[in-house]
Amino acid sequence: MVVKRLLIPGPTDVPPDILLQQTKPMIGHRSDEYTKLYTGIIEKLQKYFNTQRNITVLTASGTIWMDITGRNMVKKKALACVNGAFSERMYLTIKDCGKDVDALVVDWGKAIKPEMVLERLSQGSYDTLAVCQNETSTGVRSPVNEICQKVKKEYPDIMIVVDTVSSAGGDLIEPDVMNADIVFTSSQKCFALPPGLSIGIVSDAALERAKQVPGRGHYTDLIAIFDYYAKKKQNPTTPNVSLMYALDYQLDRMLAEGAQKRYERHLAMAEMTRKWAKEHGIESFPEPGYESVTVSTLKNNLNKNIGELNKALGKRGFQISNGYGALKDKTFRIGHMGEWTPDEIRSLLLNIEDIWGL
Ligand SMILES: *Cc1c(COP(=O)(O)O)cnc(C)c1O
Repeated sequence: MVVKRLLIPGPTDVPPDILLQQTKPMIGHRSDEYTKLYTGIIEKLQKYFNTQRNITVLTASGTIWMDITGRNMVKKKALACVNGAFSERMYLTIKDCGKDVDALVVDWGKAIKPEMVLERLSQGSYDTLAVCQNETSTGVRSPVNEICQKVKKEYPDIMIVVDTVSSAGGDLIEPDVMNADIVFTSSQKCFALPPGLSIGIVSDAALERAKQVPGRGHYTDLIAIFDYYAKKKQNPTTPNVSLMYALDYQLDRMLAEGAQKRYERHLAMAEMTRKWAKEHGIESFPEPGYESVTVSTLKNNLNKNIGELNKALGKRGFQISNGYGALKDKTFRIGHMGEWTPDEIRSLLLNIEDIWGL
């Protein structure tokens, strides 16, 4: 098996020392040792995200937070902002939970902006708003701080849920500045961990809301999750202890680098990729000024075969992504998330140049 550097928008490469953490001996999830591990993780997450908000780590991928949203936040009706495949998944999931939901749809490649959201909210009676900060399918970054702040000012009772799955831990995510009610992410993207865990940062208001919403399910019941934590400082069901070891270890590394420095490193990789593309006549797909810092989506305006490119890159030990869904051959995506550095991105770009004869 050729080991390829995963420059796809998740999962991303996991450094060997992080992988090794998972080989530690198993411990009981009701032991004091586990309590120490898990409370340590929560404290480190609060430190990394500079917040005292409620935080939980669930043994499930990030999508579980879409079910949690549908089952815990939506009383009567939600507004889901849809500008790509993952934000559409949120819309569909809320529907799957049997809740009423409208979609604010913009074209793929465009960002969600505060004015659009405010206008739409003024037209209906909504109790929940969902928006994706970093649409991985298009590489678009929406200004969620501004959106949340403006919505909270006019509609303090609307619960806001923000998907930061492909950005938290890379892009600068500040839950207190954003003031959203649920901010969630997964382990396999900018946290550079194996898949299988998700993190949710939850406001007190969100818990108050959840108490008023029946049918929260069992695994997805926010009240059960946080009540158990308050009483026992553990998870209500058996967590993936091995991944918790890896998360605990990685959080030390992330805190040593610092959230601001991690953001700057990701920004440098994104800017390098866009500058390189421009120099070679390759257009950027997202609306200018709204480009993701963790995944660059470039147009295939040179009309290359992206599948062939990936095969050739594979022989050289790299893997990137084609476009998502309908954009499969129209765009290609370079994921620069987690532990990658500008030097490694430069090396990838030089290899693409070489393969394409640019
Ligand atoms: C990857 C991704 C998801 C899905 O996360 P899973 O961990 O695969 O469930 C949701 N939203 C965005 C923006 C993503 O990039």
